[in-house]
Amino acid sequence: MKSLLFSRFFILLPWVLIVIIMIDVDPRRPAPHLGPHPHFSRYAGGRWGAAPRPGVPRPALLPRDGGPDGGPQRGAEQARNRSQPPPPQPPPPLPTIYAITPTYSRPVQKAELTRLANTFRQVAQLHWILVEDAAGRSELVSRFLARAGLPSTHLHVPTPRRYKRPGLPRATEQRNAGLAWLRQTHRHEPQRPQPGVLFFADDDNTYSLELFQEMRTTRKVSVWPVGLVGGRRYERPLVENGKVVGWYTGWRADRPFAIDMAGFAVSLQVILSNPKAVFKRRGSQPGMQESDFLKQITTVEELEPKANNCTKVLVWHTRTEKVNLANEPKYHLDTVKIEV
Ligand code: UDP
Ligand code: MN
Repeated sequence: MKSLLFSRFFILLPWVLIVIIMIDVDPRRPAPHLGPHPHFSRYAGGRWGAAPRPGVPRPALLPRDGGPDGGPQRGAEQARNRSQPPPPQPPPPLPTIYAITPTYSRPVQKAELTRLANTFRQVAQLHWILVEDAAGRSELVSRFLARAGLPSTHLHVPTPRRYKRPGLPRATEQRNAGLAWLRQTHRHEPQRPQPGVLFFADDDNTYSLELFQEMRTTRKVSVWPVGLVGGRRYERPLVENGKVVGWYTGWRADRPFAIDMAGFAVSLQVILSNPKAVFKRRGSQPGMQESDFLKQITTVEELEPKANNCTKVLVWHTRTEKVNLANEPKYHLDTVKIEV
């Protein structure tokens, strides 16, 4: 009799324990979320590492949205269950930075574009408008862009032969082609365009990532110093009480806007509301292009100083040395054909 009771007790014991454990578990508490890489750093999930898809902006340089990993559905449910306030609104869309880059065929072209793409790939929401100074889109640049992993537009326009002379402004037609594309693309939104900022990015300059953070908040036209330009270590707008009052420059300080192409950005809104503003060939000298363009869209009083009141150099007007090809054979000698 005693042994019968004992065996019944031991058979029932595990079941009783299971029931106790189940009652103790709170069914509303979500299981801890184990993502695909639960032990990875905060960069897991492709913040920097994964290759971007064309047209999909990378979130580099930006905090992530911080939404719950369980997705919006589960997030909303949890909030209701605990009667918490609704989740905060998503941040406003990040203004797109449109970088217009004129480029032309020469031995260093692919090297320059590689350096530039390596920089741009680290900037969130950047659209690269690459304009070839050529009669058509070259295979080299087309192939390069296809593999660059950047949202981009590939345009071309040749500089007329008569303007290809030393002492004449460069890349006038190419910058205007970029402007025309921007206006055409946003023609249905002249009053309230998507937030955007335009910047002229020559293919041989050097750009810090901080520069893009600065220019992204451009409301109309923003300005900042440029290093290694105008025969000086740097040029910069002079700022007093948050306003531009003059120019520190070694060359023609009497220009209304004594600034290099790399020293300013313009909001998309300003580009669209001044549809006639372009770079002009007629009567324009090199070094006056920037000033002549800015005169059409803004005033000195309106300029927004960036880079700590124009006291930091975040872009350099570097120029690549002409390569020595003295030993390049006249006719193709190698057994393979290599793109350089
Ligand atoms: N460029 C061009 N066609 C030319 C010469 C220059 O498209 O015949 C481009 C060049 O690739 C660069 C920009 O125009 O993006 C400015 O040219 P460069 O760097 O030679 O001028 P600088 O450094 O003297 O301002
Ligand atoms: Mn240059």
